[in-house]
Amino acid sequence: MKTITPPHITRHIQKLIAKVVPGQSASYLTVQPEPNAVVNECFPNVAAKIERSGGHMICGWQIWEWPHVMVEAEFHAVWVSPEGQFVDITPKPHGEDTILFVPDARRAYAGVVIDNVRMPVRDDLLVRHFIKASEAIVKVMNRGERSAQYGQVSVPAHEIEPLMMAQSFLGQSISLGLRDHNSCLCRSGSKYKRCHGPSFELLLSK
Ligand SMILES: [Zn+2]
Repeated sequence: MKTITPPHITRHIQKLIAKVVPGQSASYLTVQPEPNAVVNECFPNVAAKIERSGGHMICGWQIWEWPHVMVEAEFHAVWVSPEGQFVDITPKPHGEDTILFVPDARRAYAGVVIDNVRMPVRDDLLVRHFIKASEAIVKVMNRGERSAQYGQVSVPAHEIEPLMMAQSFLGQSISLGLRDHNSCLCRSGSKYKRCHGPSFELLLSK
């Protein structure tokens, strides 16, 4: 799976933005990682930056695209300099140097996990199941008292493993270019929608 900063604001991205922050528009921001900033830890990164340099935090959504598969909005914080410039100071997992960002004035970081919002860009059971599996994993990780735990969360294997296996199976299938009418990744010879499809449907509709 390879998500990137969308090179263009496509129709699907406009739909996603309308869903997460109605009426708001997105803009491209430069990524200028701070020396001690940590990947995926935008909130503490921005808080530390404000201590050092002033300015303030703005929350919103970073937009990602898995080309031809899905678009995704991730809750994210960027730093606003004392001069009012928006800068993303959090380093990116694949070293992207720009992000597409939509401010969301209604939300502030309250210490709870806000899951990504994902939308398929093609009508395919593999993509729908991949999105459902990703959502189910975040739900299980944050169920009940786990939502208050920070860092490594321990989750019983029987709850999480089937979902992780499904997500990995689906991610691999999609990365190989398979569609739901192609033969299943498991090499049974039948189509995904008749092979692993129905059992994943059952697992993911729980
Ligand atoms: Zn199969």
